[in-house]
Amino acid sequence: MSQTELVEFLGTYGEPAFRARQIARQLYVNQVDDVMQMSDLPLALRQRLTDDCRIGSLTQVRVVNTDDNLTHKALFMLPTGEQIESVLMIYKDRATVCVSTQAGCAMGCTFCATGRLGLLRNLESHHIVEQVLWARRTLRHLSKTTTPTTPTKHTDDAWWGDDGGHPDALPQHLGNVVFMGMGEPFANYDRWWQAVERLHDPQGINIGARGLTVSTVGLVPGIKRLADAPLPINLAISLHAPNDALRSAMMPVNKRWNVAELIDTTREYVHKTGRRVSFEYVLLQGENDTPELAGELADLVHGMLCHVNLIPWNPVPGMPLGRSERQRVVAFQRVLQTAGVPCTVRVERGVSIAAACGQLAGAAISGP
Ligand code: SAH
Ligand code: SF4
Repeated sequence: MSQTELVEFLGTYGEPAFRARQIARQLYVNQVDDVMQMSDLPLALRQRLTDDCRIGSLTQVRVVNTDDNLTHKALFMLPTGEQIESVLMIYKDRATVCVSTQAGCAMGCTFCATGRLGLLRNLESHHIVEQVLWARRTLRHLSKTTTPTTPTKHTDDAWWGDDGGHPDALPQHLGNVVFMGMGEPFANYDRWWQAVERLHDPQGINIGARGLTVSTVGLVPGIKRLADAPLPINLAISLHAPNDALRSAMMPVNKRWNVAELIDTTREYVHKTGRRVSFEYVLLQGENDTPELAGELADLVHGMLCHVNLIPWNPVPGMPLGRSERQRVVAFQRVLQTAGVPCTVRVERGVSIAAACGQLAGAAISGP
């Protein structure tokens, strides 16, 4: 519940508004997850709340961790039975959680495990907020109970990109939320935005706007709305191909809003907001990873305040696709950099725990 909802609810108990503010503070600032621990509330109220309420509505089905305990992936079940995933990633200087905005997704991108599920349902804003609360609690628990281990030596092919190295001490603070889990945030815009506001609330969870990043498949109306939104959050656009023939084959959404329209809208967004956008580009061997396509991409985004993020494809069992070999990724990156387009390779996390979103949920639905 938001603070307003808590005020309303406590009103039904005949309790004054300041009680709601106390509870909101306990939940969202102090991160208390048991009403009985809210020692600033009268015992009788705590007991009544314990009888009537529960904190959160997601059931944790499973949590798996990897990357020397620096990546934690949770599978949650909604009260209506659908499953969603969240991933906490801990880096040297920061911690990030990747959250879902829908169960499944209607967009049908050919390389994506979530797309294969179809849309199961939109998440409510509190489902989105609760994933972040899980990540904060997990991080707090880890920073109290564990010291980082000596990093495992990763083979070149399993671990590449620059993530700033292994932390000497775990960061205490969850500073970043990326809406890059299951689902298309702009297809659930209003509920997603409500979650953004609650996560940002300086009296509540208090995550800075620059710590929030939304990724879209390229829903043009959503990009336009975000350009006028009151918080300067970051925008990432899943491009994955620089021309219509290829992009439409990989991403059906391109038949509705094509590359030219998407790029024009993005240029307007940058012009209006003054903020740099990121383009995500998943590299699939032999599909979209040639130096010619890199050149086409460089021409497409030429002169725009932007950054290209190359993403090694996370293999999804049963998909007849392959991730690009390292040399091909480096060659692709070099073409962009030579053309003056800033370009990095995204660090891989969670390959061994099927971190491509939708995989745990997919396995849970179709597996034994
Ligand atoms: N629906 C939104 C946000 C969720 S997907 C979007 O598509 O942008 C977040 C990112 O993960 C997207 O760039 C998506 O293309 C990428 N992605 C999907 N499946 C992937 C996989 N198997 N390996 C690597 N990246 C993947
Ligand atoms: Fe949906 Fe994004 Fe997956 Fe495409 S890549 S199917 S938009 S979650």
